[in-house]
Amino acid sequence: MPQSSVAPPMRMVSRACPLCSSTDEARVFAEASFDLDKLDAFAFASRKLPEYMHYRLVECPTCDVLYASPVPTADELSQAYHDAAFDSQEEARHAARAYGSFLPAIKARLPNTRGALDIGAGDGAFLDELLAAGFTDVVGVEPSAAPIAASAPHIKPLLRHTLFRPDDYPSASFSLITCFQTLEHLSDPMEMCRSAQRLLAPGGALFVIAHDRRSLSARVLGTKSPIFDIEHLQLFSPESARQLLTRAGFAKVDLQTVYNTYPLHYWAKLFPLPNPIKLPFVRVLKKSGVGAIPVKIPAGNLAAIGFKG
Ligand SMILES: [Zn+2]
Repeated sequence: MPQSSVAPPMRMVSRACPLCSSTDEARVFAEASFDLDKLDAFAFASRKLPEYMHYRLVECPTCDVLYASPVPTADELSQAYHDAAFDSQEEARHAARAYGSFLPAIKARLPNTRGALDIGAGDGAFLDELLAAGFTDVVGVEPSAAPIAASAPHIKPLLRHTLFRPDDYPSASFSLITCFQTLEHLSDPMEMCRSAQRLLAPGGALFVIAHDRRSLSARVLGTKSPIFDIEHLQLFSPESARQLLTRAGFAKVDLQTVYNTYPLHYWAKLFPLPNPIKLPFVRVLKKSGVGAIPVKIPAGNLAAIGFKG
C-alpha cells in the first residue's frame, strides 16, 4: 500500500489577520482550490502538488492583506520545507542584481554600513551585492541545505544554516536587514518585522520584496497567477506592505515597484501557456541565442523599505 494513503490528513487551523490580528469581517477572496481531506502530510512533504493550488484566501478590509485560513499546523508546514530543492541559481543571481539596484539609494540614507543581515538568503547571491555596496559584517540565514551547498566558496562562510531566530543577534546590531520573497511564507510576518526593527541600529532600514497582489500581472491572471501558491500564507499589496512596516514600528516607509531583468528565455518560461506549446519555444530561444537577451519588466513585485526612527 502506498505510504500516502495511510498518512493522516493534515490538521488545519484558522488564522487571524497576520497584520491586525482581527478575525472579523474578513471577506472570502477564493475558496481552497483542492480537497483538504485528501491532502496529507506525505503528499505535501514530497512536493508532488499540481500547480494552481492554494488555501482558502480571505481579505482583511483594514489591512488590504490577503491571507490563507485555515492552514496546516506550523509543525506540518516546517516539515514541508525540509526537503525543498534548489535549482534556480542563475535566476537567483539575476534577482539579486535587480534587488541590489536599490542599495545605493538606501545606503545614502543610512548612518553607516556596519552589519547587514539577509533573511532567507538562499545561495547568498544577495550577500555579494551587499559586499559590493560596501557593507561589512554581512551575514545570511537560510533554513534549506541545498542552496547553501550550492553557494560560492567566498559566500558560504557568511551563511548560517538555520531559521531566523532574533535571539541569535544583539539588539541594534545591524544597519540593514533584507528579506526577499520570504514574508509570504511565514506564519507570523509581523513578528519577523518587529524582530528586525529591534535588531536594527537607530536610522537603520528593513528592505523587503514581496509579490504585489494588486500588480497588473496578478490582476490579469487572477487566481491563475503563480503568486496564488500553496506555499504562500499571505499576499501583500502596496497598502498592506505599508501597514505591515508601520505597525512593526518603522518611522518612515518607502514603497517602490521592482523591475526584474531576466534573459528572454526565462520570461518565456514564466508565461502562462500550456507546456507543449511553451517548452519547444523556450528551447528555440535558448538554442538561437536570442533567449539570452536581457529584458527588463516590472514582474509584479513590490519593494518596501522601512526606516527605524
Ligand atoms: Zn487586518
